[in-house]
Amino acid sequence: MPFRRAIDALNLRFGLLLALFFVFSLFAQSAPAQSSSGRNIRSKYAYGRAYLYISDIAKYYGMTLTVGSTACEIRNSKTRVTFIYDKRNATINGVKMHFLFPVLGPSSCPALSSLDFNNVLDPSMRVYSIPKQTVKTILIDPGHGADDKGASGRISHEKNLNLQISLKLRALLVKKGFKVFMTRQKDAPLTLEQRSSRCISVGADIFISVHCNSTSKRDISGIETFCLTPEGAPSTPDRKPVSAKYRGNSFNKNNFLLALKIQSKLLMATKAADRGVKHARFEVLRNAPCPAVLVEAGFMSNSREEGLLVNSAYQDKVAKAIADGIVSYYDALRGR
Ligand SMILES: [Zn+2]
Repeated sequence: MPFRRAIDALNLRFGLLLALFFVFSLFAQSAPAQSSSGRNIRSKYAYGRAYLYISDIAKYYGMTLTVGSTACEIRNSKTRVTFIYDKRNATINGVKMHFLFPVLGPSSCPALSSLDFNNVLDPSMRVYSIPKQTVKTILIDPGHGADDKGASGRISHEKNLNLQISLKLRALLVKKGFKVFMTRQKDAPLTLEQRSSRCISVGADIFISVHCNSTSKRDISGIETFCLTPEGAPSTPDRKPVSAKYRGNSFNKNNFLLALKIQSKLLMATKAADRGVKHARFEVLRNAPCPAVLVEAGFMSNSREEGLLVNSAYQDKVAKAIADGIVSYYDALRGR
């Protein structure tokens, strides 16, 4: 075989191999999820990504589906999940969460993106689908410090409130038997990189960054808890997916469950407005070598909420709720 034809034949074989690989990877992505009971969840492609039929998701979990004109709901005796068509926000047992992509509406049967199924819905529904982990050591990160004051309200700076809440949280977690470290214990400067690398030096099993919020719209108030955006998805305020995978993405399911548990406890304890579990690629979450969340405990730009946040009894409530959320996460993973 002349050299040129031999090269062409090789190229053809390589091309065939590539085509086979492409077909296989398509199949692998669209293969239906299967429950232990053998029920399949059918999928379809829309907007360049895989979606799963919510009717099949309901059967998969043994739940009842109710389809409405603007939303649908799946429920059983313990859990109720509401999906709003064409929107990314949803609720699970009344707690707001944000999907990565909009839910497809009823014209084509309601469907949820498979990334949302894997990283948001399933970790909330089936704790045993989440990688096991022991929780002994917790690193608390009071946001900002020194010249970096964070948000400023009328009576306080965020860095001070973050530290006050974090010190209370530490005391509660120590009482519960955890080994607890803090990235700062006083008004000290710290880079974001120093905060994440502390996780490695103390061998943290969980990282909790404590912050207070601010916005130019002074009537906005409430609590939100962030976990890292899964690779291939947009963060909550964005629309464009980002494919980059960070160290923290090894814990996508754990991150979400931890955030959901903490957000639920915070809402119960404070009765604050629910701004939901959100996804972001904050540097401290991206680089965390363990499950990590960032809590925004309230808005300093809202004078009523700032009045609460500076109050020691309210800080006690916030700290206790975060501690309860961590214990709830730990119990969920232990008790399965
Ligand atoms: Zn902050």
